[in-house]
Amino acid sequence: MANGQNNQRIGHNAYYPLIDTHTHFDDFVFDNDRIDLATCAYDLGLRHLLLIGYLAKYFDRMRLTKQQLAEQSKNGLSVPKAHLASGLHPAYIAQHTEADLEQLQQFLQRHPHLAIGEIGLDTFTADLKTKESLAKQTQFFQAQLDMAVEHQLPVLLHIRKAHAESLAILKQHKYDAHQLGGIAHSFSGGEQEAKAFVKLGFKLGVTGQVTNPNAKKLRRAICTAVDAYGLECLVLETDCPDMTPVCYQQGQTPTRNVPANLPAVLDSLSELLEVETSKLAKQVWQNSCEALKVDWAYPV
Ligand SMILES: [Zn+2]
Repeated sequence: MANGQNNQRIGHNAYYPLIDTHTHFDDFVFDNDRIDLATCAYDLGLRHLLLIGYLAKYFDRMRLTKQQLAEQSKNGLSVPKAHLASGLHPAYIAQHTEADLEQLQQFLQRHPHLAIGEIGLDTFTADLKTKESLAKQTQFFQAQLDMAVEHQLPVLLHIRKAHAESLAILKQHKYDAHQLGGIAHSFSGGEQEAKAFVKLGFKLGVTGQVTNPNAKKLRRAICTAVDAYGLECLVLETDCPDMTPVCYQQGQTPTRNVPANLPAVLDSLSELLEVETSKLAKQVWQNSCEALKVDWAYPV
């Protein structure tokens, strides 16, 4: 069980209080062992996690997962607190309808939310790159930015191979990340894009990709952003069940990522930036609170 002692040191690794700013912990791949995984993550320092939306049909699954963890906590089990961040993901644009936007609006009104996400633009595949797809993605992106302003919530951005287009939309929109917060999730752009998002007020979400020594472009972009804006521009995320850190990957088959892998992202980032892990952990906790506009005290 988690206690002060366990949180400090297990084996040769120290564990620190952490916030996982991006998970899909409601995914069915966690249905059989979600509570075990949650207690394990808590024992390794995880105190809060965000459940991120992508398709309207799963919004209720997110709500039930949040409830499931809250009930365990009420029963005395130490598990991270889950929070909702619903939204319509750009890569699933072909499936979204106007009714989904309406469902999102109602869901935001009925249930407490910490953010709207994940939203943005994605032109990674040929299907997503078409003029029609991009037009619809832009429409849904703007509609959800409108909702963020209406509900005064931060947005969690999913931007893939569409950084310039996304920055143009954000600059024109009255959504102000300096005021409302926000995160460029699983940041994948170059040095210039990193600086551009931070300048607009977004934090950069760092995933297990940073643990890959071959992810040179990403690692350079993170270093450049930190050189320009300090450690204040970064937050951590697992994006589980995706983005498994290299040290937990098994062979060629994709390995399920879990919230308990977040300390590996912290360790790798601490090595890359040559910043003491304890200092970085505290800083990214504060950064997450700033990005999400919450005032969670750093657990001691
Ligand atoms: Zn995601």
